[in-house]
Amino acid sequence: MEADRMDENEWSYHGEGNKSLVVCHTQRCVVLRFLKFLPNRSKTAEEVYQHLQKILDFGKHVMKQFLGENYVHHGEVVKLPLDFLKPLCLRVQSERPESRCEKEMDVSGYAMCLPNLTRLQTFPFIEHRPIFCIEIKPKCGFIPTSPHITKEIKKKVCRFCMHQHLKVAKGKWKRISKYCPLDLFSGNKRRMHFALMSLLQESQNNLKVFKNGELIYGCRDDQEHQSDLNELAHHLKPFFFPTNGLVNGPQSTMNILKELIQVLTNTLLTTSADSGRSESFKSVPIPQSRNYCESGHVCTELLRINKHKIETAGLPKGSILYKTLQAQMLDMLDIEGLYPLYKRVEKYLEECPEERSTLLLDGPYDETFFEKLKDLSTDDNGSVEYAVTKIQQYRVAMTAKDCSIMIALSPTMQEDCYDQRSVIKTARSSFKYSVSILDLDLKPYESIPHQYKRDSKIVSHYLNHEEAAP
Ligand code: ATP
Ligand code: MG
Ligand code: MG
Repeated sequence: MEADRMDENEWSYHGEGNKSLVVCHTQRCVVLRFLKFLPNRSKTAEEVYQHLQKILDFGKHVMKQFLGENYVHHGEVVKLPLDFLKPLCLRVQSERPESRCEKEMDVSGYAMCLPNLTRLQTFPFIEHRPIFCIEIKPKCGFIPTSPHITKEIKKKVCRFCMHQHLKVAKGKWKRISKYCPLDLFSGNKRRMHFALMSLLQESQNNLKVFKNGELIYGCRDDQEHQSDLNELAHHLKPFFFPTNGLVNGPQSTMNILKELIQVLTNTLLTTSADSGRSESFKSVPIPQSRNYCESGHVCTELLRINKHKIETAGLPKGSILYKTLQAQMLDMLDIEGLYPLYKRVEKYLEECPEERSTLLLDGPYDETFFEKLKDLSTDDNGSVEYAVTKIQQYRVAMTAKDCSIMIALSPTMQEDCYDQRSVIKTARSSFKYSVSILDLDLKPYESIPHQYKRDSKIVSHYLNHEEAAP
């Protein structure tokens, strides 16, 4: 990226989350990801640079090892001139959803440059070949089994499903979603189908659809808006039924969505040959926890009939879901077991504040940091070192619970002689695809007390309001 030749008119608003705002280039397959801050909480250029560099190192040396070389793009930190940033910031302001405007785009001069993951990762320039991309934020896919858990309900109902009730009560969303991460991570095609259909019906901030790089579905600011699946199906129809222009109406919508779900399921279950170094990482020794959620909406009939199968089915090793779940499971103690360890470290730091850097709480996120994460033992010897290791594993797990999976798909003719490994086929259609993971920022050490409070709030709300009258 040549800083002196940057033209703000070549960039347009792409999207944002709670921590960053993303703009995409109109001709090249790249995006710039800026940090966001509350007004008057902005940081100096140097601080922003350091922070971005940490995000990069963490992606490169830690998350890539867990999730695999092919899935993770750590990007690069770029310096940008103010005469580019100021007008760009003004330009994107009008495109931003109101609910996100509490924070402001950082214009201190640095951003992360990343490939545009709504596009196929094989082309540097925007192609005219049609493409669509589904972004899924799957959230936590397992039920914890930690002996430190004090509320039995946490061993029966998953965090996402409990949290839904609080979110709806607070007015964040209008309706409870039937999506349950345990269905998506089950590896069982019928449960995955149910999960993906539920995400399509009530996408909240867990599903977005992009067509030719542009957001066409999901994450609407206006929560009154009933997601229009007919409109989505209309957009996607040419990808699945290119020659059949006549069928219309609900039947056709359902057929298109079923095709879409089948393609997504197949993509999520494919395995990648490459694999970071998670293979050298022992699987997290989670005692057999239940793999379905009591509040789940997946047809109880399906669960009953297939119970045996469901309990033995699983994700193929090497699939993106498997790898994500493995990283999530580094949260072995649950926040209830972790919080006392956080307090142990805090107490130690009160006595010896100069030790903070020796404990490597804030990085560097390098090979050594990664090596230390390998110690999966949960025998607490009372040491500060043990506490720090568990805290860092928890932070990695939190990142994996919050990331998004991007699946980009572009139709291809069966006879095109592409490398068949990167083609996904169903009975009717055939796509060239790429799968990636984004939003791999490390969760701050300081947010642990907040996580602890939030957990107990979610659980008490669920117990007080929902369990009695489901
Ligand atoms: P969260 O609130 O989930 O933590 P965040 O503030 O960390 O989000 P991101 O999730 O990284 O921000 O980015 C916001 C959105 O921008 C994503 O959900 C995705 O739609 C889009 N986006 C981010 N990075 C890319 C990329 N490399 N290519 C295409 N789109 C991207
Ligand atoms: Mg995000
Ligand atoms: Mg994030």
